[in-house]
Amino acid sequence: MNYVNHEFEARDEDGKLIVPEPVQEAIRTLLRWAGDDPEREGLADTPARVGRAWREYCAGYEEDPGIHLRRTFSEVAGYDEVVLLRDIPFQSHCEHHLAPITGTASIAYLPKNRVVGISKLARVLHGFARRLQIQERLTSEVANCIWDNLQPHGVAVVIDAQHGCMTGRGVRTPGVGMVTSRMLGCFLEDDSSRKEVLSLMGRK
Ligand SMILES: [Zn+2]
Repeated sequence: MNYVNHEFEARDEDGKLIVPEPVQEAIRTLLRWAGDDPEREGLADTPARVGRAWREYCAGYEEDPGIHLRRTFSEVAGYDEVVLLRDIPFQSHCEHHLAPITGTASIAYLPKNRVVGISKLARVLHGFARRLQIQERLTSEVANCIWDNLQPHGVAVVIDAQHGCMTGRGVRTPGVGMVTSRMLGCFLEDDSSRKEVLSLMGRK
């Protein structure tokens, strides 16, 4: 994948990104299609705001999330137990409706000599979440990225999220969470390791 470099884009005097006219016009078209009048006062700045907001929602296209795992520490004083970051809140958007996906992720790995700063696991999550996603792929991408970059004994990722396309439209069932998990290495192959990591995550 080629990462988008938006560094040299035009900005106004307040430093805000200038949203190109075709992008704003697309949003006006959508507003009209939804039944509103894009020319009314309250919607006047909406196309530019939406344009900037979407660039933030999709900022993950500008980075390789694996970059956060390149700096590792090998002096771990023989620590050979699970490292877990639990219930990290995140937001993403579904690629089918562009609706928000909001939830939490628990990310664990069993290190093999190398560990990373704990905040880096959250950065990897956000790097993949700030793209158009489906929850299953998000879960796999986070797990595979840690697996490839840290080469640990095992990786476990569990994501619990609500989908705006389910709560606000379609079957309209608020409060229903979808759970996905991806286990690699010892957590995939060994039942007792998997049970241990799931219980550390607060799951059965
Ligand atoms: Zn959707």
